[in-house]
Amino acid sequence: MTDFHCIETKSCFYRLNSSKNGLSQKDAQKLQKKFGKNELPKEKPLGKIAIFLFQFNNPLAIILIIAGLLSLILKEYIDSIVIFGAVLINSIIGYTQENKANQAIQKLKQLVEYKTTVFRSGQEYSVDSSQIVKGDVIVIHAGNRIPADARLFECNELQINESMLTGESLSSKKHVKAVNRGAALADRENMVYAGTMAVKGSGRALVTAIGGQTEIGKIASLVSSTKEEKTPLQIRLNKFSQMLGMIFGIVCVLIVVIGLIQGRGFIEMMETGVAVGVASIPEGLTVAVTFILALGMQQILKRKALTRKLLAAETLGSTTVICTDKTGTLTEGKMHVAHIVIGEKEFEFDSLGSRQNKKEAMSVSLALQTGMMCNDAVIENPDDELAAWRIIGTATESALFSAAVQSGLNKDMLLKSEPFIAELPFDSERKYMISLHQKAKNKFVIYEKGAPEKLIEKSVKFHHQGGLKRIDEDQKKKLISTYENLTRRGLRVIGFATKEFEQKYKNGTPEEGEVSWEEIDFDLNFIGFIAIKDPLRLEAKETITTARLAGIRTVIITGDHKLTAKAIAREVGLDVKAENIITGVELEKVSDKEMLKLVKKIEIYARVSPHHKLRIVKALQARGEVVAMTGDGINDSPALKAADIGVSLGTGTDIAKETSDLILLDDNFKTIVAAIRQGRIIFKNIRKVITFLLSDVFSEMILIIGSIILGMPLALLPVQILWINIVNDSMPHFSLAYEKGSDSVMREKPLLKNEPLLNREMKVIIFYAGIARDVFVFAIFYILFIRGVEIEYLRTLMFVILGTKSLLSIFSLRKLKTSIWNYNPFSNKRLLLAVSSSFFLLILGVYFQPLQTLLSTSENFDLKGWAVAFLIGFLSIVIFEITKLKFILNKRKNT
Ligand code: ADP
Ligand code: MG
Repeated sequence: MTDFHCIETKSCFYRLNSSKNGLSQKDAQKLQKKFGKNELPKEKPLGKIAIFLFQFNNPLAIILIIAGLLSLILKEYIDSIVIFGAVLINSIIGYTQENKANQAIQKLKQLVEYKTTVFRSGQEYSVDSSQIVKGDVIVIHAGNRIPADARLFECNELQINESMLTGESLSSKKHVKAVNRGAALADRENMVYAGTMAVKGSGRALVTAIGGQTEIGKIASLVSSTKEEKTPLQIRLNKFSQMLGMIFGIVCVLIVVIGLIQGRGFIEMMETGVAVGVASIPEGLTVAVTFILALGMQQILKRKALTRKLLAAETLGSTTVICTDKTGTLTEGKMHVAHIVIGEKEFEFDSLGSRQNKKEAMSVSLALQTGMMCNDAVIENPDDELAAWRIIGTATESALFSAAVQSGLNKDMLLKSEPFIAELPFDSERKYMISLHQKAKNKFVIYEKGAPEKLIEKSVKFHHQGGLKRIDEDQKKKLISTYENLTRRGLRVIGFATKEFEQKYKNGTPEEGEVSWEEIDFDLNFIGFIAIKDPLRLEAKETITTARLAGIRTVIITGDHKLTAKAIAREVGLDVKAENIITGVELEKVSDKEMLKLVKKIEIYARVSPHHKLRIVKALQARGEVVAMTGDGINDSPALKAADIGVSLGTGTDIAKETSDLILLDDNFKTIVAAIRQGRIIFKNIRKVITFLLSDVFSEMILIIGSIILGMPLALLPVQILWINIVNDSMPHFSLAYEKGSDSVMREKPLLKNEPLLNREMKVIIFYAGIARDVFVFAIFYILFIRGVEIEYLRTLMFVILGTKSLLSIFSLRKLKTSIWNYNPFSNKRLLLAVSSSFFLLILGVYFQPLQTLLSTSENFDLKGWAVAFLIGFLSIVIFEITKLKFILNKRKNT
């Protein structure tokens, strides 16, 4: 392989058969066919066999295997077959669910798309990063993720963060000169590497390696698979299961010891121990939770948001504050120029042509020209018809560009007479942008656009009725008030200024690094304002109301003017008072302590810079809020990282996406709220599964412990318990993951940050209501046993009762906060299907001869038995509903 870092750029181009103008589209396509796509070798997902074997690595499987072996030793062959069968079935179920969850997660990972600007035949194209080939010329801007390894040949203060490759957190300053052969990766300052991030400046580079040949590709192929980290909720659940296991383990030992003291046989006690062990473990709880999380992420994706971690899905439900951008999130971000204001004179952009205004015409035209020259937007298809042009760039710049085009300006022509020399790119901290052009030898012009107050500050003259007038203090006030009147109407107002000047450089034009903006950027001529309209998103108002009802505060953070922000806020239904607005300048003066108080009442942060966002997040979090924060720029990433939910816009920079938890594919504010809603549903569904599984556990425990304490034969055999837990209940409880949630989820308060898994309702349902019913069931067993009903029939009865009551009561557990008559209990089709199949299996367990033998069910189980089972099933629903109702009524009283 050639070492491109130690040779001059010319030879690099030569070796790769390319040029500064890049490859031709045709060549690029050919190369791609030959060498494939620019993709990292796929991480090998955990193999199917590995996933399957992994299922045996849990306490239940181990207990069962021991139990199976014991039965084998005790020559209880049927028991051991059933137990091993149960292990197998359990593993298969666990395997399929985990496989499904894994696939869902993998799919989500592939969805993060990165675009790259390539230069082919001297023309810029925005392509999917996978389309890059060796020899391509790529254009790098701050905020981009580098798509492939490449040798720089043009560099404009480019800085790259290479920490993921070199571990060095300081960004590396790049240049284009050749470096020593054998220089360490971190010292090859003329190279950029796939997967790293451009944090400053811009540049062009020749691609030297793609896909698996890149430095990151070489590392990635060594890492076979990275395991998904467990989320806090999963960790809590694991602990919870362990605790349960421990408690029941102790109970189990006690029972065996007591039994032995009572003088019961050793074998019998061993069997009993196994029964208790089997009964006490809520099998599938952890798998079910992973499944719910993965499925939830898919649901969130359907609503156009991409969760980058399982974690985000569960934290979403606890969000209490959304800090949102205004531009593009609350508004559509589809901007168009509405008015142009010169001095105090306002022109409608749409009727510029018709009403010729001699006096200001020149100034209007200069404003538009400035907007075009000082602009990073490019036309993707300049050879097409004017009307079909696709302008790529930020919304603001595209609007300005297209306005200039519409009024007949042509950038290529303008550039011919005034060639471009350098630019100071727009930056949300600085809030303006300058472009430097050459007019003649030693004569230059700058075009500048940005936040009007910044430009007015630097200006000495302004355009007025076709002439230039000095700006004095009075004039300044007038200009500012014209400007504020525009912002009050909710318009995004940009100011424009120019200046011509003479300067001598060595070669007539300044070289890279020779331009010092401070030496140029003063004494400007202020041209005027262009007011851009950015229509509000239709659903924004409704969504903010939804959020408010859900106990979530919406706070607007914007780089825009405070009056623009205020006007927009009013339109979305937030009537924000002056004292609840703060600007970036004012924020600077606020101490951290005051900040804590401020964040409580501030609803709009205007004219802020990205670095303020971090302070806002931290202060809110210090108050115990769970913060979702949006961002799109490079400088937003610290705040995105610090926020509980970092939300990046789909149109944002790669860096922002990389550090966020959630990506809004459509940039829409509504999507954040939809994702939060889904987060809440996920948590609720997890609770339903827990309630369902735990109430099963207790039913079985009570029957077993009851029979031991009263010195009776076991009310239920271990194999029967296994059948109920594994065959009967698993399909229904998985289908709980598909519960859609009702409107009421967004009328509740946000979940607590560490919301206990079991809340009061659940405890009452599981411990009081459930146990009361179970004691009743045991009483039936006791009475009938005393009356001399044969034990085989009785066990079958208990078996059928347990199966039936969980299959029926699941309809009541589907919603823990709504009474069953207020929803259609059969609306979850999957649940219906699962319950029907489980019923079928239950019936098979009783009447299908081979299963009868396996499960020791009675041959003469009759309709009377079924009637009792259904009665108890319905009773169970009634008890649960009464419990639910009590909490629902209580809550109403309190609110
Ligand atoms: P936001 O996205 O919240 O509106 P920005 O940081 O994008 O905030 O913009 C802040 C201000 O900077 C805008 O109000 C506008 O005055 C100015 N501005 C925005 N985009 C540009 C640009 N491309 N060039 C010059 N100035 C800009
Ligand atoms: Mg912006």
